[in-house]
Amino acid sequence: MNAAPFPLVFDGHNDTLLSLYEEAGGKGRSFFEHSEQGHIDLPRARAGGLGGGFFAVFLPGITTAADLRQPGQGFEALEGAPLDLPYAQRMALALSALLFRLEAKSAGAMRVVLDTAALRSALREGLFAAVLHFEGAEAIDPDLDALEVYYRAGLRSLGLVWSRANIFGHGVPFAYPSSPDTGPGLTDAGRRLVHACNRLGIMVDLSHLTERGFWDVAALSDRPLVATHSAAHAICPCSRNLTDQQLDAIKESDGLVGLNFEVSFLRPDGEKNPDTPLEVMVRQVDYLVEHLGIDRVAFGSDFDGATMPSALGDVSGLPRLLSALREHGYDDEALRKLAHENWLRVLRATWQA
Ligand code: ZN
Repeated sequence: MNAAPFPLVFDGHNDTLLSLYEEAGGKGRSFFEHSEQGHIDLPRARAGGLGGGFFAVFLPGITTAADLRQPGQGFEALEGAPLDLPYAQRMALALSALLFRLEAKSAGAMRVVLDTAALRSALREGLFAAVLHFEGAEAIDPDLDALEVYYRAGLRSLGLVWSRANIFGHGVPFAYPSSPDTGPGLTDAGRRLVHACNRLGIMVDLSHLTERGFWDVAALSDRPLVATHSAAHAICPCSRNLTDQQLDAIKESDGLVGLNFEVSFLRPDGEKNPDTPLEVMVRQVDYLVEHLGIDRVAFGSDFDGATMPSALGDVSGLPRLLSALREHGYDDEALRKLAHENWLRVLRATWQA
């Protein structure tokens, strides 16, 4: 008898909006047509069993994101200067509008979901589900007026910072080997932002925060602690990964870690080397499951924003990862939890809707 088919994956992070936005002016790829460019489009998502995920609004810095793809350049190209509010708001509107236009153009195939009932029914009906996520809060003013408006527009997940500083807090620069304790935590405005997110039901994403910022949120937030796209520091001691103490706090809050597929966060040597076998991903999942329990681990691929293991390739390679996990001993119930059930539980507890 054949093994059961794999459950649909709901994924904690992609940078597909920026990837589509950048390519819109030039060579172009369509979200609705199969392409060899980038990692996610709708046909490849269907082929890979991706049921949806968090669509990040990521705001490139002064150096354009295109530079990120130059050989030999890493994420460092985008670090540095804080973004000003008018630029950040203009860009956040452009990328959010792109998501809403994709939904409109999809003729019902894609749905921007605002609550877990809609997410559950989208997964059940085979509609591609998107959650609007801001990766860094630069588009939000200190009075948090924009937060109220973005929430009404559909924002349901917010990373307080990307790997740079803003008025709310400090992000971790990318470094290996390095502790995530690289600088200060939240500002007073950052503390107010966490409270406002709790009140509205916007998930606070801890990926990219300094360790001090992480503990600030842990002390302030009354919701599960969530890192949408990170990995285990004990295996890969990169500044972006989570220490055992952070994993303990996430477990205690009944939160979740979405495993980032970026090779330099997965590999013990921290190298940006796509020749990274699936076993390295399986080992990260094992470690996270050992420390957090099977109910608190999920995926946060970083598709369209990171260097994938070539064994995975793009989103159409997801069944190879699930197959490797199954062969390693994860049964159907465990795979369902990793694939989407854990995300649904945490979002229900966070959004309270
Ligand atoms: Zn990120």
